[in-house]
Amino acid sequence: KTRVRFAPSPTGLLHVGNARTALYNWLYARHTGGDFILRIEDTDLERSEERHEAQLMQDLQWMGLAWDEGPELSGAGGGPHGPYRQSERLEIYREHTARLLAEGKAYRCFCTPEELEAERKLAAAEHRPQIYSRRCLAIPPAESEARAASGEHFAVRLQIPDRPLRFHDLVRGDVEFAADSVSDPVLVRSASGASAGIPVYNYVVTIDDALMEITHVIRGDDHISNTPKQVAIYEAFGWKVPEFAHLSTILGADRERLSKRHGATSIASFREMGILPEALVNYLALLGWGAEGGLRETFTPGELINEFKLERVTASPAVFDFEKLNWLNRHYLKLAEPARITDLAWPYFTAAGLLPSVQSVEITEWFTKVLALFLPAVDRLDQLPGRTHFLFQINPDAAVSNPENAELLATENAQRVLAELAVRAREFEGDLTAELFKTWMNEIKAETGVKGKDLFHPVRIALTGSHSGPEFEKLIPLIEEGSTLALPNHLPS
Ligand code: GLU
Repeated sequence: KTRVRFAPSPTGLLHVGNARTALYNWLYARHTGGDFILRIEDTDLERSEERHEAQLMQDLQWMGLAWDEGPELSGAGGGPHGPYRQSERLEIYREHTARLLAEGKAYRCFCTPEELEAERKLAAAEHRPQIYSRRCLAIPPAESEARAASGEHFAVRLQIPDRPLRFHDLVRGDVEFAADSVSDPVLVRSASGASAGIPVYNYVVTIDDALMEITHVIRGDDHISNTPKQVAIYEAFGWKVPEFAHLSTILGADRERLSKRHGATSIASFREMGILPEALVNYLALLGWGAEGGLRETFTPGELINEFKLERVTASPAVFDFEKLNWLNRHYLKLAEPARITDLAWPYFTAAGLLPSVQSVEITEWFTKVLALFLPAVDRLDQLPGRTHFLFQINPDAAVSNPENAELLATENAQRVLAELAVRAREFEGDLTAELFKTWMNEIKAETGVKGKDLFHPVRIALTGSHSGPEFEKLIPLIEEGSTLALPNHLPS
């Protein structure tokens, strides 16, 4: 049975790169009928925080990536290979270290930071990679024991074999590291203080992957140079080496590694902007993968599960394209149930002071109609209040006070048209229907001789504050209906 894992460090927000790694693991598990495991790599005690872990889990759940085993979380988690937090597995790592030392596969390294720094400088001066000199490998076991027992600080190093380290990568093919290019890796750090005796990433990741019976390690290619060390650790324990698939880096439009500089990259920020999870999942899936035969771009999660194959993952870096994400979001906004969009959009309007925080039948009914009219014009939910705010306030003077609009509305024709409209609006009582509005516009046309664009453009700007938008026929009834509702901006201040 396939078993894959996503192993984030809870040191910050979940970003696009790791989210894609999580997604590919999840898709592969679901495609193969295997298990998807969440493991929290929190051995960096100083940088790991509980709130990051909680946020991470929320983000994964929001994306729909449910895990089969993982840390306890209401409704999900637990499992037979726990604990799933590395900070709760320290005893397991200690036992394994004792075993490697006893079997002579690892050795204590008493070198001081100064001695190691001297080796590093020498290597740099001779333009060769820094490979540990193995000075401490020569220390006889009894002496090593005695020095450790006397309280001397030491690191634990693995003795790697004197032959090339190879592994097969499902994305890149065979990868080989020459024997003299890999140093005996430190498994357990020496430093005194908080990190004393804390095992390092390469070591614990290998122990956990082996004990958790992970069959496929799918992760970012920033870990490729770690993999030979991990392979050596599997071999030292006599464990079966899993399959590896290293995913290419994600780049920004300038082909630099994607970072904050390029704009929003955290999953939380996409959610806050009103990107739908199915749009983000669809987009991330395409970032380094394509279906067989593939020009197709839209896939529901179920379709992705059916189509996803690791052989179709590309080795070349993917470029993050915000426009394409927006395009997919528009696609899914159109497909979504109106009631769901109403619920999702509502908070943006509450935050803008345009809707009360609690829904009511009348407002919700009207708001749903507003959304149906304006949704096709936005990429994301957070753009909706800006496009529709005029519908939420009885007094449209706000639009006129925009200096850019004021200039457009200052022409003689515009002034005459708006004056005529104002007269009618002031004198009239009852409901303004689309029908009546049409009659007014015809009257104004006859009265002023202004027609076509010159007639409608100023009216649109004055009413909506915008140059374009839905037809008046649809807009007018919504304005009318909105004006009868108890909206925050209608209430007397
Ligand atoms: N905690 C590591 C990271 O976040 C996991 C790497 C791996 O999947 O092995 O990069």
